[in-house]
Amino acid sequence: MGTLGRSMVGKDVDKLIELLNKALADEWLAYYQYWIGAKVAKGPMRGAVTVELEEHATEELGHALMLVERILQLGGDPLLTPQAWYDMTNCGYEAPEDPYVEALLEQNIKGEQCAIEVYRKLVEFTKDKDPVTYEMALQIMTDEIMHEEDLQALEEDIQLMRERK
Ligand code: FE
Ligand code: FE
Ligand code: MG
Repeated sequence: MGTLGRSMVGKDVDKLIELLNKALADEWLAYYQYWIGAKVAKGPMRGAVTVELEEHATEELGHALMLVERILQLGGDPLLTPQAWYDMTNCGYEAPEDPYVEALLEQNIKGEQCAIEVYRKLVEFTKDKDPVTYEMALQIMTDEIMHEEDLQALEEDIQLMRERK
């Protein structure tokens, strides 16, 4: 833990660490939801959908790394068990029980919309208080906004293909 780095954040540091751990839980669940979704996907444009889901899985894992590093910098304890992901999550986990591409896209779009909201709140919480976490939350939120857009574009393409038949 960096003592000065931690004290810069002020009195809300414990609350901030909790919010970061909750986001960490979301990222791991999102990672697996994308990763396993990419394996089971079936239906039109399966190849394009799979590539996008795999990319997003990798990016969610990158977000988890950023969060853990920041939690440690702040002197916090990162979540240590998968059980804690379920206990702490904001956005939950939706099993891809229906492997049809549009069902997967819909589940993951919901997840991204929840993630955008989580990081919007973190941006709000750290604004003018903790520039380091603020910058990180803003960067992750920007990725989540791109994720939502990528998935909605695929959904649109699948719909267009169906209409043009
Ligand atoms: Fe993420
Ligand atoms: Fe995402
Ligand atoms: Mg993408």
